[in-house]
Amino acid sequence: MLPEPVLERAQSELLDWGGGGMSVMEVSHRGKAFVACAAATEAALREVMGISDDYAVLFLQGGALGQFSALPLNLSTPGSTIEFLNTGDWSKKAIAEAKKYAQVRVLADTSDTNFTTLPAEDSFAVGREAAYLHYTPNETIRGVEFGYVPPTGGVPLVADMSSTILSRPIDTSKFGVVYAGAQKNMGPSGLVVVIVRRDLLGRARPETPTVWDYTVQAGADSMINTPSTFGIYLLGLVLDWVKGQGGLPGMAERNRAKAEKLYAFIDGSDFYSNPVAPDARSWMNVPFLTADADLTKPFVAEAETAGLTNLAGHRSVGGMRASIYNAMPPEGVDALIEFMKEFERTHG
Ligand SMILES: *Cc1c(COP(=O)(O)O)cnc(C)c1O
Repeated sequence: MLPEPVLERAQSELLDWGGGGMSVMEVSHRGKAFVACAAATEAALREVMGISDDYAVLFLQGGALGQFSALPLNLSTPGSTIEFLNTGDWSKKAIAEAKKYAQVRVLADTSDTNFTTLPAEDSFAVGREAAYLHYTPNETIRGVEFGYVPPTGGVPLVADMSSTILSRPIDTSKFGVVYAGAQKNMGPSGLVVVIVRRDLLGRARPETPTVWDYTVQAGADSMINTPSTFGIYLLGLVLDWVKGQGGLPGMAERNRAKAEKLYAFIDGSDFYSNPVAPDARSWMNVPFLTADADLTKPFVAEAETAGLTNLAGHRSVGGMRASIYNAMPPEGVDALIEFMKEFERTHG
């Protein structure tokens, strides 16, 4: 979901962007106007997230999945060890890709609870010699979100923030790399944002694809080839909207209130349940089940008829999942809760 004011603004300037008589999708990415647009988007992201000049901000392509390969290529050698916290489906995919390029050590694994819990902060020790520690602050599919930043004792910390970036303030100075596919909280698909500490540049393996070489892209303002121009433009509009909502503190207030309301309703119900441990619950993705699994299909179908879409759980886990990203207004959560009450009344 994207904020409506953002879509309206994009619509209003779709045919004539900045008075140049062309769409932003038609101008040259190397022209003055677009170069200024990309610089403004980067400046806005730095301002909103509090990113210092010690970090490069890259606008790349290939999604978060591409970064599962780009990270080992840029930050590890074949014989070195990359450490992981395995807390769900996206962690597992990142681990599988990393194994193609380096040694992998999994420090914590919550598969024994079916990924409904998180490792305790003091339950794992990062190896001093590790190339980096990778984790997934918000596991999108099972709705599990870290309430702490893993301590690493100086080893670079790498975070796949695809489904939590811009949802609350983070201290970027604690991270070596933060990356996110844009399509959950930042804009359209086709853009992946990589925020990399500059002291980690210059380590890419020779075989690293040029488009994913952080050092090359940092030196070329992410324009070693044509970037996702529309994605960068739209991210700029989304960041303006986030600023208007009170920045990340404002987003956090709004997201916390939405999530707490939905969890409180589910916990207070005998008909619905959420399998995730209370201290590991996500503000962005709320999975839930009905007591009778046969009611999943009717729930999703009737919700869709009522205008509440995309409520099917991920195909790998079933049940339902409400993704209440930044752009979902509080009224959207209220409408879902009203529908859930009505569904229970008619099917419970
Ligand atoms: C959606 C998602 C991905 C996949 O992103 P793509 O841009 O489709 O590659 C990876 N990690 C997390 C945490 C996600 O939510």
